[in-house]
Amino acid sequence: MVNRMSVLITDFRAECAVEVNYNTSKKSSPDSEGTSSNFSTAIMKKQGSDGNPAPVMPALPEPLKDLKIKYTKIFINNEWHDSVSGKKFAVFNPATEEKICEVEEGDKADVDKAVKAARKAFELGSTWRTMDASERGRLLNKLADLVERDRLILATMETIDGGKLFSTAYLMDLGACIKTLRYCAGWADKIHGRTVPMDGNFFTFTRHEPIGVCGQIIPWNFPLVMFIWKIAPALCCGNTVVVKPAEQTPLSALYMGSLIKEAGFPPGVVNIVPGFGPTAGAAISHHMDIDKVSFTGSTEVGKLIKEAAGKSNLKRVTLELGGKSPNIIFADADLDAAVEFAHIGLFYHQGQCCIAGSRIFVEEPIYEEFVRRSIERAKKYTLGDPLKPGVQQGPQIDKEQYEKILELIESGKKEGAKLECGGGPWGDKGYFIQPTVFSNVTDDMRIAKEEIFGPVQQIMKFKTIDEVIKRANNTTYGLAAAVFTKDIDKALTFAAALQAGTVWVNCYSALSAQCPFGGFKMSGNGRELGEYGLHEYTEVKTVTIKIPQKNS
Ligand code: NAP
Ligand code: MG
Repeated sequence: MVNRMSVLITDFRAECAVEVNYNTSKKSSPDSEGTSSNFSTAIMKKQGSDGNPAPVMPALPEPLKDLKIKYTKIFINNEWHDSVSGKKFAVFNPATEEKICEVEEGDKADVDKAVKAARKAFELGSTWRTMDASERGRLLNKLADLVERDRLILATMETIDGGKLFSTAYLMDLGACIKTLRYCAGWADKIHGRTVPMDGNFFTFTRHEPIGVCGQIIPWNFPLVMFIWKIAPALCCGNTVVVKPAEQTPLSALYMGSLIKEAGFPPGVVNIVPGFGPTAGAAISHHMDIDKVSFTGSTEVGKLIKEAAGKSNLKRVTLELGGKSPNIIFADADLDAAVEFAHIGLFYHQGQCCIAGSRIFVEEPIYEEFVRRSIERAKKYTLGDPLKPGVQQGPQIDKEQYEKILELIESGKKEGAKLECGGGPWGDKGYFIQPTVFSNVTDDMRIAKEEIFGPVQQIMKFKTIDEVIKRANNTTYGLAAAVFTKDIDKALTFAAALQAGTVWVNCYSALSAQCPFGGFKMSGNGRELGEYGLHEYTEVKTVTIKIPQKNS
């Protein structure tokens, strides 16, 4: 008998959410190409207004049942090291609260070792510095091949380590990683300087050179995607890196160490130091021999990173921080699509996304209907083990985040928002929270101002264009924003007026390696990805040559 269950995931590449249908009646073994039909998988697009066909995605295999964690040590110079202090820390599965393994705990002494290795690899005359740019691209493409080969291992690891739905990890996260590696591989030999028409008798040109040793500090919500978003642009421009994964989710980054070595990157080009923020992370941000830090995480820690750069060697800093992104729905919008995108834009990965559309402004005439449909949508969720097909929402990352979210839900109730559904914990183990919808939310409430980073949707009402522009921008954040309308004038007005690094029109969460991503205001500095992202990993050098003049 065919037992159909569906899981909604966001299609980052295209314009709509897609539904993955599993046929759980068959038994088969996984295959590493992701083409087996363990669950016969069909991707069916929710019928959007444009009528385009569904995007093509690989079939979804079954997660690995006996995943072995082989890499738990510090990765420096293409070798595995114990921590200098001898300390280790435990890594947990947030769905079961069970310990998965212990990992070597790096801190300042280990960061120093890693920086020495990265510096040596960056020295003039080193294998890395003398390598043809096209060869750097080939290595990145080789790494993409290896990630494709081990897609199933990595996706299963992301699920066990970070509580991410297996379908999301396999299709979306791994897909994004492979594409980002290939995108950056293509850039490696296309980073051009310019000739400059300088006044006087000179020949002047610019060189776009790598910055040097880059420290990269990443969060737990997209462990592998963030790892790739950091290393791929840095490496394609010729830098060397020291990466600190989040203490909650170090496993996929360490696995990548083994693939980096296998791909043939020279020793010291990529170094990975698992550990804690205040020790290993701070050692990176304060380090006198690190030339640039790239950080993704909370605004609070982002400020510390900038401060540390100022107090040490004024290293370059790019920051990708939090958000409280507005999503504006006009009465003329395609209501089905708007409800769906608003839902996915918030509930994707348990609400643990920096771009979450967590302030939904709905025009008055459709407010009640929008709220009604949003509640209906949120109530359909199946919570449970993220490895299981059919499960649509997994656990929050850890107890700290779980308690923070529940406390914010309580504040919403106390401050007078209307709790429409959810509002509490779910199950008796693991950090699960019921999908929660609040209506009658006002701008002064904490749930309308603070980044919740959980499955909690806030729906507000608006009447006029001027009013909603003002309210949408009335935040310290500026990461993303969206507007749903069929009126092109309104869409373009909002595209210009919204203070955000990304503005979506009639879609949400559409990200891609080609597009620059980053924040206005306290959502960060600088951009990642796209050609703009590469500028953050190069120094521009002006070379001026005197041209001897005839008879002079
Ligand atoms: P976080 O503390 O900012 O963690 C992000 C990364 O920074 C982790 O690797 C962390 O190490 C490291 N870190 C922490 N303190 C540091 C320091 N003093 N110096 C250098 N590095 C440091 O974020 P969180 O505590 O995991 O989550 C808190 C809130 O941040 C969330 O509720 C959410 O609002 C926001 N957040 C945003 C994003 C995003 O994508 N923008 C991602 C995650 C969280 P550890 O491993 O020790 O934590
Ligand atoms: Mg933290």
